[in-house]
Amino acid sequence: MGRVLVTGGAGYIGSHVMVVLGRKGYRCVCLDNFSNSSPRAVERAQVLAPGAIEAVEADIRDTEALRRVLAGADISSVIHLAGLKAVGESVEKPALYRDNNVRGTQCLLEALAGSGVRTFVFSSSATVYGNATAMPIGEDAPTAPASPYGENKLEIERMLAKLAGEDPSWRVASLRYFNPVGAHESGTIGEHPSGTPNNLMPYVCQAAAGLRGPLRVFGTDYPTPDGTGIRDYIHVMDLAEGHMAALTALPLTPPGTVMTVNLGTGMGHSVLEVVDTFERVNGVKVPRELAGRRPGDVPICYADCSRARQLLRWSSRRTLEDMCRDAWRWQVLNPAGY
Ligand code: NAD
Ligand code: UDP
Repeated sequence: MGRVLVTGGAGYIGSHVMVVLGRKGYRCVCLDNFSNSSPRAVERAQVLAPGAIEAVEADIRDTEALRRVLAGADISSVIHLAGLKAVGESVEKPALYRDNNVRGTQCLLEALAGSGVRTFVFSSSATVYGNATAMPIGEDAPTAPASPYGENKLEIERMLAKLAGEDPSWRVASLRYFNPVGAHESGTIGEHPSGTPNNLMPYVCQAAAGLRGPLRVFGTDYPTPDGTGIRDYIHVMDLAEGHMAALTALPLTPPGTVMTVNLGTGMGHSVLEVVDTFERVNGVKVPRELAGRRPGDVPICYADCSRARQLLRWSSRRTLEDMCRDAWRWQVLNPAGY
């Protein structure tokens, strides 16, 4: 079995993916430019999966550097997570996002073309569905991304589908993540956004730790049982296991396969449910205040996960309680991140 090239492996999701793979006997090469991560994340992943992870500092837009890695490292598949992911920033800097995310993927594919690697797993996002109204969201639901970031994801999915259509030696899985939260149960790797967190769980953790002001609950008049927004939160370790399931499933598929698969739990939880669960399982208070709706938010979003069960033989196992407990353990052990 060759090694797995994990682009963006130093990031929040990538570090967990490498640990899951490494502990199952896969060997990984982490390729990251550390634009939104720390080498310490890789070091800690290496502790959790001894001997399984090698690190290379490089930018996915540096085709020559990629070629050098591919020439020397016995790579047989790629999990492509490298990318910029801040939706708001993508609205302010669409050219930067296109260059990093779309052109970066083109460069990666160009480098791969000269290698034997034809198994490719891509980090897509539920954001490609935009303002979907029918729940749960299946993969065949219309796509309508509402930001340059979401457009990048859809453009890359299409680029990959075209590639596999023209050259059936490729096998591709585009995984559309819902809301990844939590951390490895050791509390040694996790999510540490720079600046004020935009996402709910990191904000809840920092507010509970007294590092931020009260959580603002964005919107209390949504058409949901308690009036707050509902999302499909998925434990990052379940998500990471979903990547391993995709890597296992792809080689068994016919040549030219392109699978687009939701990774979620299929269950929705409201903001207040998350906050109340967090307080209950961790025995801490989350100071909060009710606020108006955040522009651009949808009321409800959760996945139809039947395709993942069928094609990947994977489904999530961890509960909202697990997500809250593990997120808090990471926060307490690493108040300043890495
Ligand atoms: P992250 O920022 O923690 O990780 C991304 C990694 O990619 C970082 O380590 C960063 O340094 C690296 N990177 C960025 N541009 C690079 C480049 N040009 N060359 C090399 N490395 C580069 O983010 P994450 O939460 O781990 O997300 C991983 C992937 O999953 C991203 O593609 C993101 O869009 C996607 N995704 C994330 C979420 C989420 O909620 N976290 C949801 C859906 C999809
Ligand atoms: N949310 C909130 N306060 C915050 C951050 C988020 O009430 O400080 C809400 C947000 O309105 C949404 C849910 O929490 O209903 C999840 O938001 P997040 O940004 O984590 O994910 P996304 O909206 O991208 O699905």
